[in-house]
Amino acid sequence: MNRIAHWLIIFTLLLIGCNQAFAENIIPLQVSDQNKLDLSTSTYVLKKQNITEVKHVLAESDIYWRQLQPADSKMIGAHNFWLQVELVTSSPSVSRFLEINNPHLDQIKIYHFINGELADKTILGDSLPFSQRLFNANSFYYPINIVAGQTQLLLIKIDTQGSAHLPLTLWSDKALLEHKDSQLIIDGMQLGTLLGIGCFSLFFAFASRSYSYGYYSGYVLCMTLIIATLNGYAFQYLWPKWPSLQQSVMTIILPLALAFALLLTEKILHLRNQNVHMLRFCRYGASIAVFLSGLSFLISYELALLIDLNTIIAVSIALMVLTSIQAYKGHKLAKLYAFGWGLMVIGACMTCLSYLGVLAFEYSPQTPMMVGLTLEIAVMSVILAIRYNDERKSKMRIQQKALVQAERIRKARESALTAETKSNAKLERMVQERTLELEMAYRELNEAHDKLKEQTTIDTLTGVKNRSAFDKKLAAESKLSRRQMTPIAVMMLDIDRFKLINDTYGHLAGDLALKAIATAIKDELKRPADIVSRYGGEEFAIILPTTDMPGALALADRIRKSIKSLRIEWQQQRISLTVSIGVSSAIITDDAHAMKLLEQADKALYFAKSSGRDQVQEYSVRFNATAV
Ligand code: GH3
Ligand code: MG
Ligand code: MG
Repeated sequence: MNRIAHWLIIFTLLLIGCNQAFAENIIPLQVSDQNKLDLSTSTYVLKKQNITEVKHVLAESDIYWRQLQPADSKMIGAHNFWLQVELVTSSPSVSRFLEINNPHLDQIKIYHFINGELADKTILGDSLPFSQRLFNANSFYYPINIVAGQTQLLLIKIDTQGSAHLPLTLWSDKALLEHKDSQLIIDGMQLGTLLGIGCFSLFFAFASRSYSYGYYSGYVLCMTLIIATLNGYAFQYLWPKWPSLQQSVMTIILPLALAFALLLTEKILHLRNQNVHMLRFCRYGASIAVFLSGLSFLISYELALLIDLNTIIAVSIALMVLTSIQAYKGHKLAKLYAFGWGLMVIGACMTCLSYLGVLAFEYSPQTPMMVGLTLEIAVMSVILAIRYNDERKSKMRIQQKALVQAERIRKARESALTAETKSNAKLERMVQERTLELEMAYRELNEAHDKLKEQTTIDTLTGVKNRSAFDKKLAAESKLSRRQMTPIAVMMLDIDRFKLINDTYGHLAGDLALKAIATAIKDELKRPADIVSRYGGEEFAIILPTTDMPGALALADRIRKSIKSLRIEWQQQRISLTVSIGVSSAIITDDAHAMKLLEQADKALYFAKSSGRDQVQEYSVRFNATAV
């Protein structure tokens, strides 16, 4: 019996022991002189959910608490998530700062119990304006003063829509100061580098109107803002008074960064010429990303963040695959691009592994991802520089070609112009020659015409003017006489008994005599205006402008005597002859007067003939009576 009782006692004790092994005892953390204490193993999570009141939490027994697990860090969204940390010290007094290094926790309520009594209640979180924080810092800090013999119990209630990553650390003043100092430098350097690259690319994009640099700057600036938001600096410095913006900013910028990354990929890999399917993927992806950014205003933050993160993972994997395909095909920039993406993905994976506790770093788990991202951005910058240089070179090549072409065109034009000038000069010379020839021909023609005209006015036998020339001259001189009121004289000359000469010596002798007489008359006429013409067979008519009757009579007599004195030789015979001359003179008064003057001269000639020939007779009115 005793034996049985003994075994029962052992079994009961074992059962109790097992039970105690399954229920975790909450062990207070001894805080002594450690400068930095990671509280992850000393933090307990309340298994029960939906407990809102602290008094109910206090009432829960230890078995409802469990240790904080790395898996808790992966949660997105946490509500009424209770944590418990118990601190004791053996030192007389220790001052410490509790750091909750997740700047995105919406609300943190800290209930501070000392020896079971509520000593303080503080509310932190990024849903409150920045000014309500206990310290002006990017993450959350709570000061604790631990005194020997006291039990400090911290009940922390977390409510958040974003990542529920909960890195709790206990810092001494000195260690925190040093840690913040180095962290600020690292963060400042990273943000400064990214901001510098982003701004430079933005200015360069505007200056060179380059879409590639524009998308790149968009991507880098979005990433800068994402990091600044993740670190809590964006809330601290950019929008400290707008917690509502702080709540939604991540889900707005994350898809935008993705959209810029996709558009940049399209440009960098020359997808328009290289791969239409990838081009479509990038463009549709970018449109969807922009849509997601807008969608974040309509749906809950938790849902938006989940969609965004999944989209980013899916697109990143797709981009890695597609870029690798392009790289495999031998695209120079795709290789570098894949390398850049690879660096970031490796960084991101390392960060994830460190959150999961697989990897451990001295620095924050975010560090590998940040380093990866910075390297990726640097690689992209190199890619862009190469691409820009390639474009510049190809542009220069095209320009060079265009220049050569232009030079060729210029030379062709020049030679065409020279040929044209030459042919023009030749043409001009030919035209000049032709013109000269024409002018000469024209002059000759004119001369011929003048000669012809002259010939038509000349009597061919005697060389003096003919009858028609006489008529024209008489008409012209009559007009002059009438206008100038000057007398004009007309002589009619007839060879005496010329028929007899013809009959005696023949007609040729008669012609010779006619020529001799014409010459004799011409010789006697001294004034240029006087003209003699052969009026009929052996009759000559003479016009004497500006000559009155006495003058005309004197000249007529001189002519008569000159002819009488002529010695015309014909076949060793001398021919003598005389002429009879009738003279009239008047100032012309009307149109018919000229003809009248001619008739009067003719009448005077008739009178001279009838008066015995070889004499000069002036017209007298009595002739009319005689004629009648
Ligand atoms: P008169 O003294 O009355 O004038 O006597 P005439 O013989 O001269 O008479 P008329 O005037 O009638 O004669 C004209 C003659 O002149 C007729 C013709 O034989 C001659 N005759 C006219 N024209 C020419 C000519 O061109 N050449 C020659 N050789 N004789 C001509
Ligand atoms: Mg006659
Ligand atoms: Mg006669």
